[in-house]
Amino acid sequence: MTGVVDLHLHSTASDGEANPGEVVRRAAEAGVTAVALTDHDTLDGVSEAADVGVSVGVRVVPGCEFSVKAWWGELHLLGYFLPADHPELNRFLATQRDGRVKRAEEIVRRLSDLGVRVSMESVRRHAAGGSIGRPHVARALVDAAKVASVNEAFDRYLSDDGPAYVPKPLPELEVVTSLVSRLGGVTSAAHLKERATLRTLSRLRQEGVDGVEVLHPSHDDGTVSRLRAWSADLEMLKSGGSDWHGDQGAPDHRRSIGALRVPGEWLEALERLHRKRVGSES
Ligand code: AMP
Ligand code: FE
Ligand code: FE
Ligand code: ZN
Repeated sequence: MTGVVDLHLHSTASDGEANPGEVVRRAAEAGVTAVALTDHDTLDGVSEAADVGVSVGVRVVPGCEFSVKAWWGELHLLGYFLPADHPELNRFLATQRDGRVKRAEEIVRRLSDLGVRVSMESVRRHAAGGSIGRPHVARALVDAAKVASVNEAFDRYLSDDGPAYVPKPLPELEVVTSLVSRLGGVTSAAHLKERATLRTLSRLRQEGVDGVEVLHPSHDDGTVSRLRAWSADLEMLKSGGSDWHGDQGAPDHRRSIGALRVPGEWLEALERLHRKRVGSES
């Protein structure tokens, strides 16, 4: 497969602003030949995305962005070529989403303790049945006129060092890498940013991570070239994508779909490993 792909995208199935079909239509308009839909802790958007992909000529790879516990704390792990209807994976993801709901309730309680009243119903309305995250709390705060923007909600309350921050319950990294590879999927460590060192990559590799997200809006040219070189040294695969959440996304997520020009060959290499794992070497 040639051309430009985008292997990190969010939809309304989690905290993105566009529905899965719209994400794929926008990818087609941008001239992207294949996408991976990688919503947080869910595969729910994939079938709609795939249907639209057929009609607009964009290949859709089923994916998901897992939040896992690495040795330093939270790591985002992209999973590609995941089976859409595997009971064990679905149960696992449902547990993660339940944890997200309880954590959102806790965030709402913390906000209330801070004198900032927002209802869980409003948060749920913004999540619209999708995997709940801090952006939905942020949008509820904007609606309640407690802040002027999603960004302000993060800056004042919700960021990792903010007063209403509550961590998510996280599965161990190796639990997820082994589950994904057992089901024929392939993993890539997302947006490592300043954690992108040779030592970190090498240990991630030991813990079963297959690849690394080289191209991401938060990675500067130096990070990109180091990750390219180290992934080659360690025989890790490469992935990349815009991490597009919509036009109002987080400050370091403001690149449009396809803008990073991720080469189709990277997806081909990911797919070769997937095929090897499921035993169909064609
Ligand atoms: P959560 O998964 O609930 O911990 O929320 C993390 C998500 O919040 C990320 O995937 C981003 O989509 C979003 N996010 C993080 N920081 C910001 C920010 N400053 N403004 C808007 N969205 C953000
Ligand atoms: Fe997100
Ligand atoms: Fe992420
Ligand atoms: Zn993401």
